[in-house]
Amino acid sequence: MATSSSKKSTRTCDDSNCPYHGTLSIRGRALEGTVISAKMDKTVVVRRDYLNYVPKFKRYERRRSHIPAHNPPCINVKEGNPVKIAECHPISKTVSFVVVEKLGER
Ligand SMILES: [Zn+2]
Repeated sequence: MATSSSKKSTRTCDDSNCPYHGTLSIRGRALEGTVISAKMDKTVVVRRDYLNYVPKFKRYERRRSHIPAHNPPCINVKEGNPVKIAECHPISKTVSFVVVEKLGER
C-alpha cells in the first residue's frame, strides 16, 4: 500500500493570489463549505448548506449555495474536502473568495 497523503501545509508557492505567500489580502466574510468541483485550474466550487428562517411558517428552510473560490497551490484541496473560505477582492469575473484552510484533517 502506497499512501502519499501525509502532506502538510508547510509548502510554499509562488501564486500571487495566495493569502499566505502572495499579496492577496482577506477581508469580509469567512465561510465553511464542501468542495464539489475541483476541475478548474486553481479554482474550486464550494457548496454551502445553510438554514434560512421563514417567519410566516416559523420554520427553517434548507438552502444551499455554490461559491467559486480560488484554490492556492500550497493548499490544493480536492473534491469532497471540507474547507474554510474567506472573502477577498474579486480575482476573476466570478471568484471573490479564496480557500484558506482544509478542514477535517486535523
Ligand atoms: Zn501559498
